[in-house]
Amino acid sequence: MELRAYLGRRLGRRARGEGEPPLDIEVDDAVGRLPTGAGEYRRRDPGTIRAAVIHHSAAAGDLPVEALAAYHVQRRCWPGIGYHYYLTADGTIHRCNRLEAVSWHCGSENPRSVGICLAGDFTDPGARPTDSQLASARGLIAALEGALDRRLEVWGHKELAPTACPGAGWPDVRRYSQRGWRRYVA
Ligand SMILES: [Zn+2]
Repeated sequence: MELRAYLGRRLGRRARGEGEPPLDIEVDDAVGRLPTGAGEYRRRDPGTIRAAVIHHSAAAGDLPVEALAAYHVQRRCWPGIGYHYYLTADGTIHRCNRLEAVSWHCGSENPRSVGICLAGDFTDPGARPTDSQLASARGLIAALEGALDRRLEVWGHKELAPTACPGAGWPDVRRYSQRGWRRYVA
């Protein structure tokens, strides 16, 4: 890239604050107020994001985002909360990490994905997110697709890694089928 164009891009990013396209959806912006730990997550160009990975918190649906962040930082010794977005049972969307942060939520898939955690424990068959949470998840993914100007793959964590997350209610479908997400929110 030509130097001037490069510098212009850098300056433009700085002027906008954080090099991230704004989301067309209401969120509680928790970035900056959540506890952080030692080190920093690696950075990426948000344009390289291809997928959203859905998780559950395996904890209470109304657990405050600050408490989850403190657990990741203090108990797991991570640089910050592992997810990019945390959706409580009332449907509130908490923004937890910038999209450029390669935060830790899905192992080798981290560099290309956004981590979206639905608060609650859906381990048992029949345990489901609230309608508000699912509506917020749908809206958030649509807003991310608009901001990133691309369709995203949407996976349940267990479709990509050996885990029970996001719970038994997430259909067991083959990787790369994309049917799980559509059935889950139907
Ligand atoms: Zn998970």
